[in-house]
Amino acid sequence: MTGFSAPSDVLDLLEQLEQAGYPAYMVGGAVRSQLMGQQPHDFDVCTAARPEEVRKICAGFRVLDTGLQHGTVTVLLESGPVEITTFRTEGVYSDGRRPDSVSFVSDIRSDLARRDFTINAMAWSPRHGLCDPFGGQADLSCGMLRCVGDPTERLTEDALRILRALRFAATYGLQIEPQTRAAVLHCRGFLHKISAERITAELIQIVCAPYAGRVLMEYAAVITEILPELRPMIGFEQNNPHHRYTLWEHSVRALEAIPSRPELRLSMLFHDVGKSVCYTEDAAGVGHFYGHATHSVPLTESALRRLRLDHALTEDILYLVRHHDTPLGQTHSTVRRKLAVHGERYFRALLAIHKADCIGQGTNLSNLTLLLQSEALFEEILADEGRFKRRDLAVNGKDLISWGVHGREIGDMLAALLNYVLDDPSRNTPEQLYQKFLLLRREHDHLAFTVSGMSWKHCAQDVRRILEHLSSVQYADVDLPSGRVEVVGTQISLDEIRHALADAGYKVAI
Ligand code: ATP
Ligand code: MG
Repeated sequence: MTGFSAPSDVLDLLEQLEQAGYPAYMVGGAVRSQLMGQQPHDFDVCTAARPEEVRKICAGFRVLDTGLQHGTVTVLLESGPVEITTFRTEGVYSDGRRPDSVSFVSDIRSDLARRDFTINAMAWSPRHGLCDPFGGQADLSCGMLRCVGDPTERLTEDALRILRALRFAATYGLQIEPQTRAAVLHCRGFLHKISAERITAELIQIVCAPYAGRVLMEYAAVITEILPELRPMIGFEQNNPHHRYTLWEHSVRALEAIPSRPELRLSMLFHDVGKSVCYTEDAAGVGHFYGHATHSVPLTESALRRLRLDHALTEDILYLVRHHDTPLGQTHSTVRRKLAVHGERYFRALLAIHKADCIGQGTNLSNLTLLLQSEALFEEILADEGRFKRRDLAVNGKDLISWGVHGREIGDMLAALLNYVLDDPSRNTPEQLYQKFLLLRREHDHLAFTVSGMSWKHCAQDVRRILEHLSSVQYADVDLPSGRVEVVGTQISLDEIRHALADAGYKVAI
């Protein structure tokens, strides 16, 4: 067979196993990728040699016992780690996850028969050529994903294969063969046997894959099996002139329109999940979703916790879902203020989210023009701020000390003066800054209170950002878990603070 290759140390390894009398092949993803004209990202090997024999043959290398009882060792070659698995068949799967026992065998065909899909059940070696007993190459060339053997049996043995099927379909744009497709849908209830970590690893790959949209539309029933929170979105008519699609199709189209990063794709999947709980219709029969972003947060949070998603990723997604529809500003000063509220990283992510959301609405692209304006202003402001730092101010710390400022207040005052100058660079003269300083000083207020409803670090950041977004507040100090908040600013109004925090679902107590 021509067209296959492997790093020379992998080929040497296959040859050494052969010379010791054990057939040895490259198998699985490495064969599949090369038949698709792609570069494999790793090389798995299977062989008739038992693990202890593999160890002997690979004595010159470091060998790790990856899964000795299942016949897998990992050899650390120069070109990278290679997993070597002894040909094996599997006993019954009484738990729907893993075989109760495995038996080593001497022929490759039995080993390939235990693998999940025909396109993954091919092996190749320089000596024996391509071994493809289940027609994987033919399936691949017509873009078909098919179980090896009886689909219902194979998917109930190990329900993770249901999600693997979706992942391979979404990654390579494959159609799932009708009987396999029927089994994927029929067996989806078995997914509850699979651990959250394994489900999450597959889900992330599915949503980040190039053909995610097609798969999410066609296999919504499988996705909502693991994410029941999303179920009300399927077929939900929005009855709103801004929206051309149902809630589910809108979310999927928005997901497809955003760059393929887990936090962005998952944010799009969840951003409107709260819409079905706050839907109202006005007298004209037009649908509205007031406050839906706030409603989306707890639903997203409960789903992500169940999935045991990484903590930092969870925080990012909750923040982005909460703010997915807050305006980013259309003028230099509002964009700057919003940038101060969200920070550069979140602002950039929110821009991507707003654009994708707009594309997913499928109606009026003029909003996209407005977003591109916000983006241009954002880039301009970043470039300015990159050039203009505290040390470029016409006054410095020493000046402030001579004006009677002490300790921590020096940094805060310089930050406030920098903000003042960034809004209008012509203000950067010692006289104007001194006048502003006097004003800030005179109007300085202090206020302390307690906020309830914060449970996560991101909540604390959220509260701080909401407060600092108010024009009367200069900075806010938030303490978790006590909920104690101190704000400094000018003519602070507790009512205004109460309102702003209540809008975001927090309660204020004095
Ligand atoms: P990639 O590494 O690109 O995700 P891969 O095909 O190499 O794709 P792996 O998860 O590394 O996927 O598994 C290697 C091979 O092991 C697969 O090609 C398949 O033959 C087999 N395999 C993996 N997981 C299962 C499973 N749950 N059920 C049956 N066979 C499996
Ligand atoms: Mg692999």
